[in-house]
Amino acid sequence: MRILDTLSGKKIAVKKPKNGLKLFVCGPTVYDYSHIGHARTYIIFDSFVKYLRFLKNKVFYLQNITDIDDKIINRAKDKNIRPEKLAKQFEKEYYTDIKALNINSVDKYAPASKYIKEIQKQIAVLLKKNFAYETKNGVYFQVKKFTNYGNLSKQNLSELRHGYRIEQDPQKKDPLDFALWKETKENIGWDSPWGWGRPGWHIEDTAITEKFFGPQYDIHGGANDLKFPHHESEIAQQESASGKKPFVKIWMHTGFLLINGDKMSKSLNNFITIREFLKKNSSSDLRMIALSHHYRSPINYNDEVLASAKKSLKNIEDFITTLKFVELNAVNKKGGTNIKKILEKFENDFKKALDDDFNTPKALSEIFNLINQINPKLWKLSKKEAIAIKTSINKLLKLFEINYASTEIPLKIAKLAQERQLSRQNKQFVPADRLRIKIERLGYLIKDTPLGPFVTKR
Ligand code: AMP
Repeated sequence: MRILDTLSGKKIAVKKPKNGLKLFVCGPTVYDYSHIGHARTYIIFDSFVKYLRFLKNKVFYLQNITDIDDKIINRAKDKNIRPEKLAKQFEKEYYTDIKALNINSVDKYAPASKYIKEIQKQIAVLLKKNFAYETKNGVYFQVKKFTNYGNLSKQNLSELRHGYRIEQDPQKKDPLDFALWKETKENIGWDSPWGWGRPGWHIEDTAITEKFFGPQYDIHGGANDLKFPHHESEIAQQESASGKKPFVKIWMHTGFLLINGDKMSKSLNNFITIREFLKKNSSSDLRMIALSHHYRSPINYNDEVLASAKKSLKNIEDFITTLKFVELNAVNKKGGTNIKKILEKFENDFKKALDDDFNTPKALSEIFNLINQINPKLWKLSKKEAIAIKTSINKLLKLFEINYASTEIPLKIAKLAQERQLSRQNKQFVPADRLRIKIERLGYLIKDTPLGPFVTKR
């Protein structure tokens, strides 16, 4: 399998290290409910890890939780509660939301506030090695000392200086220098050799990954917005602290989810939380939206995108329902429609798509290709063949945690269908037609197939 690495711009082979692959993905800042943009990123990494494990890779998936941050402190002030309490509440809500989306592949969640010792240790190393300096307001990383700063986001330092919102501290040597430790007068903080304060944002991730993975590891993920300054600064910190390069082998960045072309924001009132989405739609609807776009492309979420995901799910559901009908009514005992070969090619093409930079839309399109290929042969399938096709599709959809609704035909409808069939056999076509209309009015369709009448939901 190969993944496009943001730093080198090349597709890099994902190796299978003996002691397992180490993957870190930036977790949420917990000051509010998570939205469907977060979900897009976390669904991708969840499916990615499930696929790696399906290929028999051992993976350790680590995610931090940013539970110390200005946004948390400001929101807590507005609500007149302690920041720790607010962060704890939304950390819990985050776990509830991702569970509802069947995101369950993370091995370890690491809230930053639990790793202050490790954070301080890394800051001390950076000071000792002269990559950082102390001011009255805290400790800063001196960007000028790290020659590769800007390589990940493909910007040079003067471009960066120009476009960057400068952190307020006249004592900084360069506007680009970023905080490793912020002194504070507030009562949320920790003691440190540099005074009472709290860590900067970037250092929490490298301190956490160094603790669990050491100074170098395999894959680092997050959405595009984090390339600069967050990931750029992580590289600078960790490579300077350890002297080892590269910090990570592959940088994997997901595209943003936009709403009707805009960034989600409270002020535009276009913010859709995961739980709001799930009130009206299913987890599979959201997973289908995320996975039917390439992970690096933006998604412009709107009603059509949602409707198209629902339609794709309904097509799969209808196909599986038909296969179940064939399974029960097949007349062909021997098979012989080349299904084994077709399924082998289908599964191969599905994997080929994922192996080439985790192309999930291509992989999903292979399912629809299969459906189109099988449809003309449906009534000729044997029971065994119908089961094999169903099993193959289900196995691959399980990887993505996409579940379609299974259509159960209520007894009342099944009885009406039976009555209609009897009327037809007795050539009583007028009552048979009346029964068909009645069935349709009750929300079902009846189709006469070479294997007998087949009832589906409208
Ligand atoms: P945050 O809570 O903003 O720190 O974001 C947590 C994770 O979700 C990070 O990996 C972000 O890059 C990602 N993320 C945030 N907003 C979006 C979005 N609209 N679309 C895709 N990913 C996002």
